[in-house]
Amino acid sequence: MGILVKNISILGATGSIGQNTLDLVLKERDKFNVVGLTGSDNIELLAESAIKLKADVVATANESKFHDLREILKKYQIEVCAGVTGVLEVASRQVDWVMSAIVGSAGLLPGLRALETGANLALANKESMVAAGPIMKKVAKMKSAKLMPVDSEHSAIAQLIRGEERDSLSKIIITASGGAFRNLTKAKLIDVTPDQAAQHPNWNMGKRITIDSASLFNKALEIIEAKEFFDLKSSDIEVLIHPQSLVHAIASFCDGGMKAHIGPPDMRHAIAYALYEEKRFNLTMPEVNLAEVGTLEFEKPDMSKYPALELGYEVLAQGGLAGAAFNAAKEEALDNFLDRKLSFLGMADVVRATMDELSSKNRLSSEVEIEAVIDIDLQARSVAKKFVGKY
Ligand code: NAD
Ligand code: MG
Repeated sequence: MGILVKNISILGATGSIGQNTLDLVLKERDKFNVVGLTGSDNIELLAESAIKLKADVVATANESKFHDLREILKKYQIEVCAGVTGVLEVASRQVDWVMSAIVGSAGLLPGLRALETGANLALANKESMVAAGPIMKKVAKMKSAKLMPVDSEHSAIAQLIRGEERDSLSKIIITASGGAFRNLTKAKLIDVTPDQAAQHPNWNMGKRITIDSASLFNKALEIIEAKEFFDLKSSDIEVLIHPQSLVHAIASFCDGGMKAHIGPPDMRHAIAYALYEEKRFNLTMPEVNLAEVGTLEFEKPDMSKYPALELGYEVLAQGGLAGAAFNAAKEEALDNFLDRKLSFLGMADVVRATMDELSSKNRLSSEVEIEAVIDIDLQARSVAKKFVGKY
């Protein structure tokens, strides 16, 4: 019997998760046929990746790069598209498996489109689950498509609860490294810069998620992501600061037993687990040497230092469109922090003010339908913009 070749596409192929996915595909080249890749500004890397993987079609989200990309690829039989419609075109191609690794809410519609084709979706784009978890799950169910987490903590939870009876799970703990400013007091956070926030002590990731790790906005998104993936209540999800970033998640069961997932801080572990659909691939990663590590530390996060996490819990309890609004306001706040128009701590102030305003106008309680999600995303960005100058 010949090898079964899996047709795949990678959305956000030029990013940190996308390139790690490519790296894994290249390790077992004959097992995969790469259909589509998408990127945005870095068309050189997109073209290089498409040539290396012999992709059929590529899309740059940045429309102004279309001609340059076509020029680079003119000697190859690779179809070129551009803009939001180009990315959706790639996501629409019939394949078996899609990696959703675009950053931000821009990843929602392409990931959803891939699910609609019936492809199994490896979801790194946690923003989709935060903004529209119920829709993602509904479409996956309707199409009998697998929806698999590609976040170290959520992949860990999926691995921990596999084979367990769902009712026996009483709580999950997800860990946070504490990011770049773990050892700084709140007073010291006032004038930290985007460059300082973009230095992660343990993980090598895209810039936006690295900064979200320092503010714990990333963890706030992740508790909502966990609720959606594993159908948990807010009180069943705990966050602990774990500076070593080796234990990614812990599952507690009703008999008092707890299982912890330990692994090196390398996203290829979670990506491979999704790429091989819950089978383990021989990754030959350096083993975690526990004797050398010696101590694994855990502590409760200080909510006054990390207001983003506190907000995350409120959003989790609120449900409805709160997740979509929260994520959009956070993206707007982060853009302004990157542009030096807002301070590091100002990001949480802007997001809180935005959520308060939208809540008071009763904008967050509607059903989670795709039009409503897109609409609240736009509203939240415009309200957040208004608050930027005030903090
Ligand atoms: P990245 O910034 O390195 O890459 C982002 C990708 O999205 C690039 O390919 C870029 O071209 C594309 N992109 C950016 N804006 C776009 C737009 N408007 N339309 C279409 N494409 C666009 O980001 P990353 O760190 O790889 O993260 C990707 C996703 O995975 C995020 O949702 C992040 O939260 C999640 N994630 C990342 C890690 C990690 O280790 N990097 C871990 C867990 C989850
Ligand atoms: Mg994570």
